[in-house]
Amino acid sequence: MKKGEKHTKKTRMKISLLQKGQHRSPRTEFKKGHISWCKGTKGLVKPNKGSFKKGHKPPEGKEHPNWKGGIWKKRRQWSKIILKRDNYECCGCLKKTKVTHHIITQKEDSNQKYDIRNGLTLCRSCHAYIHKVMEKNGY
Ligand SMILES: [Zn+2]
Ligand SMILES: [Zn+2]
Repeated sequence: MKKGEKHTKKTRMKISLLQKGQHRSPRTEFKKGHISWCKGTKGLVKPNKGSFKKGHKPPEGKEHPNWKGGIWKKRRQWSKIILKRDNYECCGCLKKTKVTHHIITQKEDSNQKYDIRNGLTLCRSCHAYIHKVMEKNGY
C-alpha cells in the first residue's frame, strides 16, 4: 500500500488549513460563532481542574525562534489590548488572568494574528480546554 493514502478527512482538513489562503473565509468563521465561544459560555465552561496538568504550555509558546524582537513587541501590545478589553477576566470562568488566545490560529490566517477581534482572554485551564476542543475539531 502506498503511503499517503491513509489520509483521513481530518488530516486533509488540517493540511488545507496549513495552505495559506486556501481555507474558508475567516469572516464567516467569526460570525459562525468562534467569538461567541466567549460570550455564549460566560461562566458556564468549567473544565475539570484535575485533568489540567501543571506546566502545560499552550501552542503559542512554540512560536518561531527566528522571529525578530519587533514581532514580540507587537504580540505583547496585542495581548495588552485584549486583556484590557476583557478586564483581565477569563472569558470561560471569569477568573483573573493574563493569558490571551488566538481564535483564528496563525496556521489558519496569519493576517489576523494581531486583529483584536481575534483575541480572547482565558485562564490557563480554559485555554488548555479550548485547545483540546480545537484539536478535536481538527485545528
Ligand atoms: Zn477560565
Ligand atoms: Zn491559544
